[in-house]
Amino acid sequence: MTWEPRPSPVVTPENEPYWTGGLDGELRIQRCRDCDLVYVYPRAHCPDCLGDGVEWFVASGRGTVYSYTVAHQVAGWPEAELPLVNAYVELDEGPRLMTNLVDCDPADVAVGVSVEVRFEPSEDGAFAVPVFTPV
Ligand SMILES: [Zn+2]
Repeated sequence: MTWEPRPSPVVTPENEPYWTGGLDGELRIQRCRDCDLVYVYPRAHCPDCLGDGVEWFVASGRGTVYSYTVAHQVAGWPEAELPLVNAYVELDEGPRLMTNLVDCDPADVAVGVSVEVRFEPSEDGAFAVPVFTPV
């Protein structure tokens, strides 16, 4: 098994701005113009009112840790890159995003800690995957 730290996403017209945003340093998410819901992950229709009046905007890239877990063993993941911090980050705009926390000591991670987005290249380098780091 080879190590694929950030597998390349399957890109569709509905999610392309999300995956390409990181190449420009932007966390792009969607908002429904009809009911004002802000949501992740990308969808062509609002998950609340099912309308198609959705638009992209650039999120602040800031949020807080909603929940997290620290993995000390991950099959196929190099020991030098462990532990791996998996987290749900609640963006300042509202929605929660499953991600990794990077560039931090897991002992310093806690629910409610402020974080901001970083981007790591996908395996093929064509896209950028949002991850977060404490600030
Ligand atoms: Zn809506």
